[in-house]
Order: sequence, then structure tokens, then C-alpha cells
Amino acid sequence: MRKIKKALQKAFPKVELSVGLDDRGILTLYGECASWQQLVDIGHKAARLPGVENVVNELRVAGQRIPQKDYRPLRDAGRSRGLAADVDVLIIGAGITGCGIARELAKYKLDILVVEMSGDVATGATKANNGNIHPGHAEKPGTLKARLNVEGNRLYTRWAEELHFTLQRCGAMGFITSRWLWPALLYGYIKALKNGVEGVQLVGGRRAVELEPGLKRSAIGVKGAMWLPTMALVEPYQVTVALAENAAENGVRFWFNCTAADILTEKGAAVGAVTTKGIVRSRIIINCAGVYADEISAMAGDKSFTIHPRKGVIAILDKARSPAYDCLCDHVTFETVRRTLQKSYTKGGGMCYTPEKNILMGPSASESPDKEDLSTSARELAYAMGRGDETIDYSDVIRYFAGNRPADYSEDFIIGMSPITAGFINVAAIQSPGLAAAPAIAGKVEQIVAAAAEERGEPLERDPGWEPLRLPQPEFRHLSRAEQEALIRKDPRYGRIICRCETITEGEILDALRSPVPPASIDAVKRRTRAGMGRCQGGFCQPRVLELLARERGISWTEVTLKGEGSRILLKSNRPRAEGGADK
Ligand SMILES: Cc1cc2nc3c(=O)[nH]c(=O)nc-3n(C[C@H](O)[C@H](O)[C@H](O)COP(=O)(O)OP(=O)(O)OC[C@H]3O[C@@H](n4cnc5c(N)ncnc54)[C@H](O)[C@@H]3O)c2cc1C
Repeated sequence: MRKIKKALQKAFPKVELSVGLDDRGILTLYGECASWQQLVDIGHKAARLPGVENVVNELRVAGQRIPQKDYRPLRDAGRSRGLAADVDVLIIGAGITGCGIARELAKYKLDILVVEMSGDVATGATKANNGNIHPGHAEKPGTLKARLNVEGNRLYTRWAEELHFTLQRCGAMGFITSRWLWPALLYGYIKALKNGVEGVQLVGGRRAVELEPGLKRSAIGVKGAMWLPTMALVEPYQVTVALAENAAENGVRFWFNCTAADILTEKGAAVGAVTTKGIVRSRIIINCAGVYADEISAMAGDKSFTIHPRKGVIAILDKARSPAYDCLCDHVTFETVRRTLQKSYTKGGGMCYTPEKNILMGPSASESPDKEDLSTSARELAYAMGRGDETIDYSDVIRYFAGNRPADYSEDFIIGMSPITAGFINVAAIQSPGLAAAPAIAGKVEQIVAAAAEERGEPLERDPGWEPLRLPQPEFRHLSRAEQEALIRKDPRYGRIICRCETITEGEILDALRSPVPPASIDAVKRRTRAGMGRCQGGFCQPRVLELLARERGISWTEVTLKGEGSRILLKSNRPRAEGGADK
């Protein structure tokens, strides 16, 4: 421990530090430093020291209050509600991780409940990412991230076939612009081989341009490239909705607007959680709480890592303008040298398409003390825009947004049964490539749950009624004219366009509103249908979606929210209410 303290003091001589190291190699840092960035740097440095497995960072920043979530009132409210449910598995968090695990475990005879503090699935990092199903070339060999990324990428094909979401295997290319840079390319190639990336190839400049004509159009003198055919693109919320719907069809329950505020333990084992809807007893608790996963783990008595949110800002461009950028490539392209040399903990930056052909610019990467901070600044936007093609016109940006990567100091995923609290499973620090790794993460957690059941002498039993397939819903915009006409003949509501920018029909919105995990807000409808995702950003369709939501849910217009509790759109009605509750 003395050696660790000495190394840290040498690196940060002006910081007064004290440290504690437990027998698991968890290092706790105490003291005060000068800035948030310095606090993060100390955490990273400490995590790389020999004998340190991970870091709990209790440092303070002089003169700065670090925002903390106050669970006390939530806990008190939950306790006062008494027992609300008794289940086999409780999953905390309905991002891609929680929903993927719920869907995987639904194949067993288990009573599963997912609690989510927001009003819908995919509202954390899962809604604010690039949708890249990375090949796995960029991760440090030997890490859990590297292994689960490569495996997850492969498993996406099956997920897409069973759940009917769009998966585009577009491929990616890391290129160099000078022959002197071949060593950097080779370095990236060897790393990809070590990670087991399928189909990775080194190609010369001419072959690179054949594979990716966009490189020729943009007049970049390509001298060589690493070709990664397994790179794929998805719409992340579409995947998550599909997982949740399939899980729900197989009996998984979802409680939204429900915060887990405490973990209950008895004799060293987790036995349940206090949630804002009451006490939930459960034999297994799976912590998929994103940036809050360290706090949930601490509630279970296992304080073994700290999450430091790393914010990323992404700009999204009007898809109608995508053809104007003929410099844009068919594959995801990036300059290998910049990626190899940049000393950052993110793959962020650059430009890529979404499956619906919007261009995404970014993300940026900045450390932020506030887990709720999703603000965007001109500086961050400029960074996101500037790292792709410099000729992008800002007026083509239809929206920009931020997401927080849930990073820990070891910069790897933390997945496993807690050695302190039996029955409590951490699925934490799922930063990028968490989306790409999601199917493999779900598989790994399935194995952990199965092993725990085996150990208890109650092996998991397959549910013979499990249905892995989710039926596709019509997507009017992707149909041929003849198919559209046939659909309208069957149900004229598919002939009424609600969202003009994205060509989304009333029929599709009603399908979503009647789905197994029905959307409860305007944004939730948007995540399922794309209504409001176009150039006008809901300016035209929002009132019409609001009307449909109110009608289907049997609530008044004024009760409809943009994104859950506290975001009502209309304040009061100035017309008489009609019978049945809905405003006219
Ligand atoms: C800008 C950016 C770009 C990225 N790009 C990519 C990419 O291209 N490819 C890739 O593979 N990965 C990417 N990632 C990473 C990826 O988004 C994440 O790894 C993934 O979404 C993590 O999912 P999750 O379900 O673990 O966390 P989240 O999506 O954050 O979900 C956690 C959920 O837990 C809920 N929760 C928290 N506390 C509680 C509580 N007490 N009670 C109940 N619910 C709670 C939250 O509300 C949230 O919904 C990117 C991330 C960012 C920020």
C-alpha cells in the first residue's frame, strides 16, 4: 500500500492523498484535489498501479460540490408502501443491458421484474449513442470488453433475425494517408487479430478505394487500410424496444417510473430492494443501472468501483441532405493513425450513417461530475462536427444531444456475482462498446444466474412456451407502392400520414400504442415509430401524436407528457371536457 501511495504522490505532488486497499485489490482514494479532471486522472493512474483491481474514488474537489442523488425520501416512500412484489429475478435498469438480460432469462421458468426509474426503456446511454456494432478491433486485448465485443457483434445476427430490427453489416475501414504510417496500421491489425475479429484484412491503397469509393470521392490519398467487414449499424432504441417487447411477450414485467432506492440483505445475501413502488423481494438482483450502478452496488454492501460519467455530444443531420455529402462513405471509415495515437478512453469522433441514413457527427468526450448533466455546449458541438468532414453545413443539423458513458477507472466492464453479497450481480461500467457487446453480456449473465441456481440445488428449468420470435410490424416508409396500397386497403389508418418528415402513419402509431411495452409519452412513441425524428422535430406531428396517445390511454390531453413525469406539454384545457375523459 505504501508503494501505491508513493507512486500517486510522485505523480500528483500537490495533492494530499490517503488510500485504503482491501484484499480484493480495491483501492479507495481519500483527500482533496484541485479539479474534477484531476480527480479523474488520479483515479485512472491509481487503477493502473500493480496490485490494484479497481478504484473507489472518494476524493473531493476544492470549492466544488459534486452532485449526489438523495435516495432517502425515495426509500422512505417505498418502505411505507410495503410489499409490492415477490419475484425470482429483479433487474434494475431498462437500457440495452437490462432489457437484453431480461429477454435472455425469459426462456426459463422465472418470475422476472424490470424496474426503471424513467418512463420508458432506452432512456440512459442507450438512447444517446452512435449505434455502432463495433467489430472489436479497438479494445485492449485480454479485457472483458474485447471478448464480449467480438462475441456480441457475432450474436447480433441472431438477435436481428429473431427480433426483427434493422441490422446493417456495412463494414468499416481504418486507413492511412502516408506509407510511413504502415506500422500504425499493422499495430491495429495485430490488436484486431489478438481480439479474434472475424474477417479483418490489411489492404493496399488501390484495393481500399475499390472497397470504399467514398475515399476516392473525398480525394484522400489512401495508402493502405484495415478492412473490418463485421462492423454493423443499428438504431439502439429499436433494438432495446424489440428486446423488451419480446421479454414482455414471454412474461417479463416492466415497472416504469420506479426507482430502486435501497437493496435489502439478510445474512450476507440480497433478498430484495426498496423501490418507489414498494418493497420487491427477489432471490437474484441484477444491477444494470448505468451511471448509477456504483451507487446501487454500494447499497448492496459492495463498494468496489466508482462510475465517472464521460459525456459525449452527437449531432444528427437531416437525412434528406445526406446525398449532398458525396464525400461520405458507404462503410464507417476512420483514420487509423489518429485513433492509434490519441490518448483517450473513447473511440468517439468521426461520422457515420444510421440505418435510416441520417448522418451522425461525433461524439465528443468530456469528464463531468454530474451524472444527470446532458447539457450541450457550442464547444462540444464544434468538436463533434469538426472531427469528421470539415465541409458539413451546420444548418443540416436537426438535433444534437448528449449521453453519459458509465465508465469506471479500470475502463473495463464489471460483470459478475458480488463476492460480498450473494445473489447480487453487477453488470456495471458498461460504456462503449456496451451496445455492441449487449448479446454477449446477456449470455454471460445467463450463465452466472444458471450457476447460482445450480449451486442452490435448484437448476433453472426451461420454459417450454418460450417464444424467441417477435413479429415485425409494418413500416410503411420501407414498403413498395403496391405493398402500401394493399396495407391501406386492409386498414385505412395506414393511409393517414401523421409524421410527414419520416412518413409515419396513424396505423404504425396505433400498433406501437398497443404493443407489449406500450409507450407512455411522446418521446416513447418517437423511439418506437420515428414520428418526430425528421427535419421539423415533431413541430407538425406532435399535436397529432398527443391526441392519439391520450385517446388510446384514456387520459386527457393535458396529462400527456413529452418524456414522463414532470414534462407535461399542455398545462390546461380551455375547452369543455367530453364524456369519457379525453378532451375534444
Ligand atoms: C455518446 C455515446 C456514444 C456511444 N456509442 C456507442 C456505439 O456506437 N457503440 C457501442 O457499442 N456503444 C456505444 N456507447 C455505449 C453504449 O451506449 C452503452 O454501453 C450502453 O447503452 C449501456 O447500456 P446500459 O443499459 O448498461 O445503460 P443505460 O442505457 O444508461 O441504462 C441504465 C438504466 O438504468 C436506469 N436506472 C439508473 N438508476 C436506477 C435506479 N436506482 N432504479 C431504477 N432504474 C435506474 C436508468 O434510468 C437507465 O435507463 C456510446 C455511449 C455514449 C454516451
